[in-house]
Amino acid sequence: MSENKINPSTLYIIATPIGNLGDISARALATLEQVDIIACEDTRHTQKLLSAFAIKNKTISMHDHNERQRQDYIASLLQEGKSIALVSDAGTPLISDPGFHLVRHCRSLGLAVSPIPGACAAISALSVAGLPTDRFSFEGFLPSKSGARQSVLKGLAAEPRTMVFYDAPRRAIDTIKDIVETLGPQRYVVIARELTKTFETVHSDHAENLLAWLEQDPNQLKGEMVLVIEGYQADRNDISSEVVKTLKLLLAEMKPKKACAITAEIHGVKKNALYDLALSFKA
Ligand code: SAM
Repeated sequence: MSENKINPSTLYIIATPIGNLGDISARALATLEQVDIIACEDTRHTQKLLSAFAIKNKTISMHDHNERQRQDYIASLLQEGKSIALVSDAGTPLISDPGFHLVRHCRSLGLAVSPIPGACAAISALSVAGLPTDRFSFEGFLPSKSGARQSVLKGLAAEPRTMVFYDAPRRAIDTIKDIVETLGPQRYVVIARELTKTFETVHSDHAENLLAWLEQDPNQLKGEMVLVIEGYQADRNDISSEVVKTLKLLLAEMKPKKACAITAEIHGVKKNALYDLALSFKA
């Protein structure tokens, strides 16, 4: 391996494993060893990682609740010529983890910010989901309350790109129920759970089948989970029950063409996808 050179006045954004410690890179280890200070989301958590690799270095905390205060302190250390690493509890910092304000602040001061790439649960899940990856949309955490979750999902009903969400497995049944309701029972969903760990599971199916699978196996409701959802396919019958309800109500009052146009406008779905359905209801 080539020698690892640490630059002064540089903030290194270092990815750490999402489960399997073997996923840490040689460059991440060398940098964690050589920087002046490691800023951690949770110092105790990172200390375990450092101990596993016999690294002794100074750590300070930098989490969601003190990031704004910490950014001035860290920037002043960088301006003095120190090198600093930023790590989160797992995966890539800033990806649903602290660090955005710090990085923006440092960049606005003209300080160097350098990535040391590695594990990220969203990208790991995408790499095994078997759904299109040429374009995708990372949506972060789904809201924990069903109403808010449904409104996020409804807003994405016509999103054609593959969507990636973080969610807690204990909420998985409620989340999949909301997916059935808002995106339709036929929408293809991949659950990527406990990636790189002992009980790694990647399971995919149409939303309604996935729900039945989860309901009969409580073990699937443990650990950490990424949901990868197929984008809206206009040529497939993945019309949600909400869309069907609107369409039926309008069909009772007007001609199919107009009912389809209004339903498409309300729910952001393609008009053509509704037309066959409307005719079948009329029949
Ligand atoms: N920054 C991290 C990254 O790069 O993936 C994500 C941090 S976010 C606070 C934690 C969420 O990532 C978890 O709730 C879960 O949705 C997902 N996650 C983290 N590790 C995972 C794993 N081993 N398997 C599946 N999902 C994981």
